[in-house]
Amino acid sequence: MRLKGKVAIVTGGANGIGRAAAKELIREGAKVVVADLDRANGERTVAEIEAEGGSARFFQADISQYDSVKVLVQDTLRHFGKLDIMFNNAGVVNRRESLLDLPVEEYHRTVEVNQHGVFYGIKAAGNAMKENGGVIINTASIYGFIADRKYFPYHASKGAVVMMTKAAALELAPYNIRVVAIAPGLVDTEIVKPLKARSEVWQAVEKAHMRGRAGNPVEVAKVVAFLASDDASFVNGSVLFVDDGAVAFKR
Ligand code: NAD
Repeated sequence: MRLKGKVAIVTGGANGIGRAAAKELIREGAKVVVADLDRANGERTVAEIEAEGGSARFFQADISQYDSVKVLVQDTLRHFGKLDIMFNNAGVVNRRESLLDLPVEEYHRTVEVNQHGVFYGIKAAGNAMKENGGVIINTASIYGFIADRKYFPYHASKGAVVMMTKAAALELAPYNIRVVAIAPGLVDTEIVKPLKARSEVWQAVEKAHMRGRAGNPVEVAKVVAFLASDDASFVNGSVLFVDDGAVAFKR
């Protein structure tokens, strides 16, 4: 119960890593706002949490719109009275043969969600936390560090998340707000379903991890709970790889 009495927002909380993180934060004693575009799965996540006695709430938000993120934070403050933990996690991925054929609009959409969405979350949460401090956790990716073919906008946006984390940590330190990021490797969620459908490709990506397998969302969620807690009180401005060593070895 390291997060007893804390209030958290989890964007992308309807599915995958966000859903597992919402449940893990609840297990550690927090109250959680599950924020997502996906109402059906967001409400399902909240219902499952409530069935186990946890306190959660769904809020439909589009993180690519600043007004939507602002209202999400305002609603959280109104409902729970404060905000201690912001997990900026919602994201999208798109695949194109080559950046030469990449529609400009598609690049913009990925950046609007993965990069601008994280900025909006940092800004809105930072303002809500500046009196009492807090923790902001951003989901980057190993693709913020290493390049693969076909994922140009994803690389651009996740690289930005890495640097925004460091710059925001520096600016928000005077308010006792820590800003950190996680960089997952392959995690078995909806976002990688198209990859999983092609078994040779999936196996090759799994092999790029030291023990040759994808992670599961709970393995990432546990790290999020640690970073959100005072056990990580001296961790700031850093990016924690949750990737079974995928970026640590030469293939
Ligand atoms: P997921 O598809 O299961 O979850 C993503 C969630 O974000 C969904 O619930 C979706 O509805 C929500 N979302 C998308 N756009 C949104 C928007 N504009 N506003 C609000 N919500 C929105 O995938 P996941 O793997 O759980 O992804 C979570 C994060 O982890 C993403 O940022 C992703 O880039 C990152 N990540 C995933 C992997 C992986 O292999 N799964 C690896 C590295 C990083």
